[in-house]
Amino acid sequence: MPNFECHVAVASVASAVAVATGSILFEWDNTASSLAFMAGLSGGMVPDLDCDTAKPRRLAGFFVGLGCAAMVVGYVSGQGQFLRRPWPAAHVALAAVGSFFLFSSIFMEILKGRTKHRGLFHSLATPFLYGGLWGCLTAGQGGRVIMAVWFLATLGVFTHLILDAAKGFTFNPLKIASDDLAASTRLWILTALVNFLAFIRIFAF
Ligand SMILES: [Zn+2]
Repeated sequence: MPNFECHVAVASVASAVAVATGSILFEWDNTASSLAFMAGLSGGMVPDLDCDTAKPRRLAGFFVGLGCAAMVVGYVSGQGQFLRRPWPAAHVALAAVGSFFLFSSIFMEILKGRTKHRGLFHSLATPFLYGGLWGCLTAGQGGRVIMAVWFLATLGVFTHLILDAAKGFTFNPLKIASDDLAASTRLWILTALVNFLAFIRIFAF
């Protein structure tokens, strides 16, 4: 099986080529190009979020923890009656460390309990789900940015699935669904919904 480094290398080369092409053909500006590149590169790691030992999951846990800690710090260091804010610096630091470990471990536990390696995360819905999520996340940035991140995120996940398919003979990641039909149906409905929301924004601009 291709390892983490291999997936990152292929996803970054494919993303760089796609961003260069997009900026020539569709005049993507710096915002569109850099967001699109991030979407493509991270897309190359997304399917292995279902692997208990893989780096992508630990990396994602780290960023989720970091994001939550940043929000907690922002909250407790601001003015307010509730919880008698702002807190003194030492308490803010403790809250930051505590919330980092709390939220990253909750996130990792949820992924661990809900996923099976090379299950639904390695199916044909994942590229489009990830593209749609990026489209919704950048919905305020305008149609051109949404198209750029949607396209690159989808492409990034595809590089992962195609690499897995090319190197492995025991399973086919380019499958429409897994054995769990109910879960597959939920995944496709979610994918359709997220993409619908993303594309509404494209045509609204
Ligand atoms: Zn994989």
